[in-house]
Amino acid sequence: MIKIIKQMNNQSFSTRIINAGFQKPDVHGAITLPVYRNAAFEFADSETIAAAFQNRINAHTYSRISNPSVANFEQKVKTASNAESVIALSSGMAAITNSFFAIAYAGSNIVSSPHLFGNTFSFFKFTLAAFGVEVRFVDTNDLQQITDAVDENTCAFFAELVTNPHLEIADLPKISNILKAKDVPMIIDTTLIPWCAFDAKKAGVDVEVVSTTKYISGGATSTGGVIVDYGTFNWETNKKLAATHKPEGISRFMFKLRSEIVRNLGAYMTPDTAYMHTIGLETLQVRYEQMSKTAYELASYFSTHPKITKVSYPKLENSPYKAISDKLFTGNPGALFCINLQSKSACYKFMDALKIIRRATNLFDNKSLIIHPESTIYSSFSPEMKRIAGIEDNLMRLSVGLENVKDLKKDIETALEFV
Ligand SMILES: *Cc1c(COP(=O)(O)O)cnc(C)c1O
Repeated sequence: MIKIIKQMNNQSFSTRIINAGFQKPDVHGAITLPVYRNAAFEFADSETIAAAFQNRINAHTYSRISNPSVANFEQKVKTASNAESVIALSSGMAAITNSFFAIAYAGSNIVSSPHLFGNTFSFFKFTLAAFGVEVRFVDTNDLQQITDAVDENTCAFFAELVTNPHLEIADLPKISNILKAKDVPMIIDTTLIPWCAFDAKKAGVDVEVVSTTKYISGGATSTGGVIVDYGTFNWETNKKLAATHKPEGISRFMFKLRSEIVRNLGAYMTPDTAYMHTIGLETLQVRYEQMSKTAYELASYFSTHPKITKVSYPKLENSPYKAISDKLFTGNPGALFCINLQSKSACYKFMDALKIIRRATNLFDNKSLIIHPESTIYSSFSPEMKRIAGIEDNLMRLSVGLENVKDLKKDIETALEFV
């Protein structure tokens, strides 16, 4: 059987993560939990398998529902986030879609920032719309708009912690006060700032959805996502959840996900992904701090370059989000910054001249990546949708990797000569 290693709360982030999770007393003394790649689990007798299916005992039955390798990763994320409960899925989008299939109902609405990851925007605007769920876009910097948009059919407020590519940061503690008064849960996509730099619970977040593909996977090894419930919202009051039975109270959301939504939609994380993301989590803090340092150095250096019209990074003095970033992210707002040049063609010339930085989508790979969002991620959007989503055609998004900062500086400097 497996046992949980006792945690020391006074240990630092990396130490806690490295030691967290289940440890199988392996006959070979394996230091990391081996990958349980099997689909099914057998039981000694009929009574025990019945008990497992009826949730009377805690046991794995089938890997679409739960699996030891995935449970080990979930346990580590629970330690990293100090959350109440965690479920791991096969992608960040699976974390988002499963969460909303648990709480949205025909006639309900989601109050959200329109500045969203492309597929989240499309999921709200098209996929959920087909089921009679309305999305109400608001400017998250305007608290009055949020107050006015929320009503008795609002199933959640949703936003990205740092929007991409705009790099806006909403004042979550203030928004949380509004939502608490109206009994609406706050669900935040925190993909851009991991747990070592952001205390979601303290900021008033009830549920986090995270694409672990990004910082957690340890260098873009595979796609994955997690739903993290802080146990701060009383789900008994939610209309659709109230219709489901046990258990009572705060854990209803995760219970509904585990016992119904996740197994019905079939996007639970695979054991191989869980293994990779577990290893990735162990090196998260050093990678994050190094990447943030490099991003800040590059963003500061290029903010005065004559060929660049704008550099956006929350830690820069001229960023409108510097104060909130310093307050929420312990001085490390991550590896992502944006550059505006005079025109779209200038962006293309610049990107085509880069030798180290690669033209690719994705964030927080060990490799530095650049993309022109308007012509790629958002290319299927109509001009009107691009306007709503705030996508400029002279903007590029750069995700800094672990290459040496001097080499990256030289790569950017040289490519700018081609503009
Ligand atoms: C990448 C990303 C997602 C989607 O995650 P996948 O793992 O690609 O499904 C959602 N939100 C944000 C902010 C992202 O960067």
